[in-house]
Amino acid sequence: MKTFNDFNLSQEMLNALNEKGFTNPSPIQALVIPEFLAEKANIIGQAQTGTGKTAAFSIPIIESITRDGSIKAIILTPTRELAIQVCEEMYSLIGKRDLRVSAVYGGASIEQQIRSIRKGSDIIVGTPGRIMDLMERRVLELNNLEFFVLDEADEMLNMGFVEDIEKILESTNAEKNMLFFSATMPPSILQIAKRYMGQYKILKVENKELTTKLTEQIYFEVKEGDKFEALCRVLDFEQDFYGIIFCRTKVEVDEVTKHLKARGYAVDSLHGDISQGQRTKTLGEFKERITNLLVATDVAARGIDVNNLTHVINYSIPHEAEAYVHRIGRTGRAGQKGIAITFVTPKEMSRLGQIRKITKTDIKKQEIPAIKDVIK
Ligand code: ADP
Ligand code: MG
Repeated sequence: MKTFNDFNLSQEMLNALNEKGFTNPSPIQALVIPEFLAEKANIIGQAQTGTGKTAAFSIPIIESITRDGSIKAIILTPTRELAIQVCEEMYSLIGKRDLRVSAVYGGASIEQQIRSIRKGSDIIVGTPGRIMDLMERRVLELNNLEFFVLDEADEMLNMGFVEDIEKILESTNAEKNMLFFSATMPPSILQIAKRYMGQYKILKVENKELTTKLTEQIYFEVKEGDKFEALCRVLDFEQDFYGIIFCRTKVEVDEVTKHLKARGYAVDSLHGDISQGQRTKTLGEFKERITNLLVATDVAARGIDVNNLTHVINYSIPHEAEAYVHRIGRTGRAGQKGIAITFVTPKEMSRLGQIRKITKTDIKKQEIPAIKDVIK
């Protein structure tokens, strides 16, 4: 097995990795880092969620750039939360080096972000809308870039960001390396790659199953009207529950959250209509385990990396198998075990069948814990 010492990394980087407790590179890191440091090729990196794609691009970028007053790297992410998370991960890898990263995203004060960029940023991480806004205001000058990264490329395209991405790409300098990272590889990614990258390499970590083996997957058959009671049983049955409850709509998120609060659970919620300030605070408290339950929509929870989640609950089964994979990818990360529970109403059984088929995993039926087993 390879260690980070086998790559040609600086002592500063090795120290930062050591501090983070990373000793061995994940498979995608082991593919991307040496390739990138040796050749600076354009790369499409594909590996399932939770396998360390952030560090796979952050490590070589940080190793390659030096500060000269212009922006050297830009990373596009599909959501605000992810922009913040990638920014934090980069800072932890920068350690004591003199490099600055600015996270820019909508729903937060643009003036503050402008001030941060004007102080001199070497790396920008952000969502497409805010990046375009800042480019139009001539705050972001992207004509000296060395690296252009699309993180969670499949998600970005699913969310309809193609035109924005192309617009941003077209206003940057031609000589730069491009890196796309993704859990899946739909044809639309390859189309953009062909158009803008010219030559590129695909570095892929094969996985037989789409979903991680570390996540035990089960389902409960529940009638629509019994779902909330079933949820409370599950929560009461598990000791040290630390998890995300996925709902299909914002209204459902609000309903479930309200009812859980009324029963005294330490719960908070994330969805697109909640202000950015509140979303950041909620996620921070959840990461610190001040709250142990987070009720969320798919959009708000995309790509979020929280360590040691014990559970993911699909309060409503998602329409798409892809959303299922992303949701349960929130647990079973970085070698930790997790449980994914899906509530399925009798009418939704065929949808469960489709998800099983596409993900090639056996999602096993279990009975909802009996009331006598959960009374404390
Ligand atoms: P992805 O983008 O592939 O979904 P992330 O980059 O969010 O995955 O990483 C998932 C988790 O694994 C994070 O908590 C990250 O800190 C951790 N991680 C990444 N690389 C390593 C490593 N080499 N050793 C241990 N943990 C790692
Ligand atoms: Mg990621």
